[in-house]
Amino acid sequence: MIQKILIANRGEIALRIMRSCKEMGIRTVAVYSDVDRTSRHVAYADEAICIGSALASESYLNIEKIINASKQFNADAIHPGYGFLSENAHFARRCKEEGILFIGPDAECIESMGDKISARQNMIKAGVPVVPGTAEDLQPKDLIRLCRKIGLPVIIKATAGGGGKGMRLVRDEKELQEAYYSAKSEAKASFGNDIVYIEKYIESPHHIEIQLLGDTHGNVIHLFDRECSVQRRHQKIVEESPSPFIDEKTRLKMGQIAVKAAKAIGYAGAGTIEFLVDDKMNYYFLEMNARLQVEHPVTEEVLGVDLVKEQIHIANGKKLRFTQREILQRGHAIECRICAEDAQNNFTPSPGIICHIQSPQGIGVRIDSHIYDGYEVPVHYDPMLGKLIVWATTREYALERMRRVLYEYKITGIKTNIDYLRKIIDTRDFVKGNYTTHFIEENSKKLQQDGKQIEELEDIAVIAAYIDYLVNNNNPIEGEHQNQADNRPISRWRSFGKQKSILRF
Ligand code: ADP
Repeated sequence: MIQKILIANRGEIALRIMRSCKEMGIRTVAVYSDVDRTSRHVAYADEAICIGSALASESYLNIEKIINASKQFNADAIHPGYGFLSENAHFARRCKEEGILFIGPDAECIESMGDKISARQNMIKAGVPVVPGTAEDLQPKDLIRLCRKIGLPVIIKATAGGGGKGMRLVRDEKELQEAYYSAKSEAKASFGNDIVYIEKYIESPHHIEIQLLGDTHGNVIHLFDRECSVQRRHQKIVEESPSPFIDEKTRLKMGQIAVKAAKAIGYAGAGTIEFLVDDKMNYYFLEMNARLQVEHPVTEEVLGVDLVKEQIHIANGKKLRFTQREILQRGHAIECRICAEDAQNNFTPSPGIICHIQSPQGIGVRIDSHIYDGYEVPVHYDPMLGKLIVWATTREYALERMRRVLYEYKITGIKTNIDYLRKIIDTRDFVKGNYTTHFIEENSKKLQQDGKQIEELEDIAVIAAYIDYLVNNNNPIEGEHQNQADNRPISRWRSFGKQKSILRF
């Protein structure tokens, strides 16, 4: 039985994993780079060790340093979190060689699903519908022929792809050559692998994924769906469960097909099958993530299942604790990714020292984050500061709650995307649950309205409401009838205050 786990990750996910370990009485070891010395995941762990400099290759991606740290602290297992080494088959293999449990699927499974071309081939064999496309390393001489066979528009994709990199949309044959070479060079630079293939481009799809759990005894269940179509540059920003788009029949069919896919490759651990779903609710396999996803909390909230605890339970060689029938969706959860970035300035990262955080509280609120007052957000890593998750009995109710908690959430000292998230939540298509992966593009004008200006107006409104209050409470100011500062009659301030204070609250 696992007694001690080293978490080969940083920030919010390291902390989130440690919290489940704490509840299970499992000791934890944090690894950190020198710029993460003051991160909360380091303070929270029972033991911690600095493994190198900020450069990921010197620390969070350095397999041998992480293995050595595990041995030094006698950790029984390593949890890789997401990103970094979480889908690195060589790392999973090295852990095994050293007698350390890797909390995730085995190296062969990671390999078979990590490469998009081989994942597609495996899924076709298992009878899972995949996006129409090619199945091998795309050569320049075959470009036009294969593109015509599939039919425009197409998307050229890197087999090693991730994070939306190495992907190019082609709507016109004339763009084909350039798209091919630029996808290849981006793939080479990002993944050291320039193999690309072609997929049919699905117009206005939904990105809907199915959470899975499989044990080492051949049992696999699905934990229903997450809607992840709110994306900017193919990166998710807001996720929810259940999807407001698909009907119950499609939801169940997608769950069953995901289980079939996982069984076909002997999957054990927590994993996710991502699908693209078109407007007629046809679904196509997109890829499998053989790890915990950033957005896993929405599933946890709706099901009442702690996925990290289940991962550890599976790594201990135990059978799944639930049958498919016992897994039921209850209510609705929404997650917003809180990032240190300047939404008004092309989402430039905004590292620096956090002056003050005012966190939302109250019914149905969860924050997975590692930040605190005085914490310095390093420039070296992903700008995500954490995730804000709400749960409520219905979608409408969850939306009200998210609107309220985004209003309460204040982070000063650095720029964040909180204002931008507020606008997303208030956008008509989002409120209606009527959105696809083009949501951000389609609403870009509304979303780019100057948030600062809105904040300033809100502040003026509060001042106005305060004056209003004084006036209505027979304060001496009432007799003045003129605002001294700008000579405007108070009645104008009063009506402005009333109007805006309704908006604000
Ligand atoms: P990555 O692994 O780089 O994240 P994915 O294959 O998961 O790439 O795709 C990321 C996003 O790109 C999808 O959620 C979707 O919005 C878009 N996308 C990918 N493939 C297609 C496709 N064939 N048609 C339409 N959109 C696509």
